[in-house]
Amino acid sequence: MKSPNQHVLVIGMGGTIAGLAQNPKNPSAYRAGQVALEALIVTLQSSNRVAQGEIRTQQLASIDSRDLSDALLTQLGLAVRAALDNPLVLGVVVTHGTDTIEETGLFLDAVCSKQAERLGKRVVLTGAMLPSNHPQADGPLNLQAALHWAQMDLQTCPAGVFGIFAGRVCLARDLAKRHTSDLNAPLRDALSSPIHLINPSWLARIRRIQIDSGPDMPIPAEDAWPWVEILTSHAGARPETVLHWQNQAIQGLVIAGTGMGGVHAAWLKPLHTLAEKGVAIAKASRVGAGHVHLHLPETDPAGWVAAGSLTAPKARIALQLALYAAAEAKLGGKSMTWQDFFARIAVLPE
Ligand code: ASP
Repeated sequence: MKSPNQHVLVIGMGGTIAGLAQNPKNPSAYRAGQVALEALIVTLQSSNRVAQGEIRTQQLASIDSRDLSDALLTQLGLAVRAALDNPLVLGVVVTHGTDTIEETGLFLDAVCSKQAERLGKRVVLTGAMLPSNHPQADGPLNLQAALHWAQMDLQTCPAGVFGIFAGRVCLARDLAKRHTSDLNAPLRDALSSPIHLINPSWLARIRRIQIDSGPDMPIPAEDAWPWVEILTSHAGARPETVLHWQNQAIQGLVIAGTGMGGVHAAWLKPLHTLAEKGVAIAKASRVGAGHVHLHLPETDPAGWVAAGSLTAPKARIALQLALYAAAEAKLGGKSMTWQDFFARIAVLPE
């Protein structure tokens, strides 16, 4: 039984779910992050789609998620952790723009999924592809589903960090926008399940991943995120693109490689030089699906890591967290490397 004051906390970040079209005749031209979260919830409640009084809101940001920053991720991670620790909070929903929801999904999974599992609570990310005043706005249904999922019984699905769009649910770490306009753009059918008829093999995979995944990673302070960039390998790549980084304070590079993480020959020498100077290199793929393995199809330089199933933007977050965790471990006299921490996030059952 719920006790009084127990509630779901909805944290608002902005995005299209809070977007407004200025001209109703052209509802696809709009600005993200214009409507207060409170107003979105009131709209749901006034149409009786959620019970009154079971929701509290925290407007953390009102941005277009293309402008997401490291500092905001820190604030969000700390807010979610605090909410999970609060006995009055039954679950957490995060409303977020879809452009960078994959970064936030991977981040929250890495920094608080074990805490959520331990406390038997869920964190659910959602958003929308159409602005709030579009005649077919998808935000209300997504938000309603997320609120439901955040409180659903633990027998049906374990606690953890999830994403919900267009009637489907996936692990938040599996979110990745793969279409510019489809309503289900942020999740892939193969990695998700319908919310109303949970797919047993999807559920089995979730349980396997939860058993295999390591402890939560530390959250960097707002100004302590390591500088990591993404470079996409492509036809006609020039060494200058990599050489540019030689005299910068960059700490890591993610290569969004061709195919299984291939790097243009013109980049190999400058990348070696960067790695020798201590820059961490992770190879991912620009393909958008599938895995990248180390030493496949050819031997990789010593010290590099492969991103597994992580897309390049997710691998970038993972590398930042890994570099930060390794620096913290060193301060604490422990000898784990950034490669060890990166593997903790990237290497999961396929
Ligand atoms: N540009 C928007 C955002 O990411 C897109 C969306 O939310 O769907 O904030």
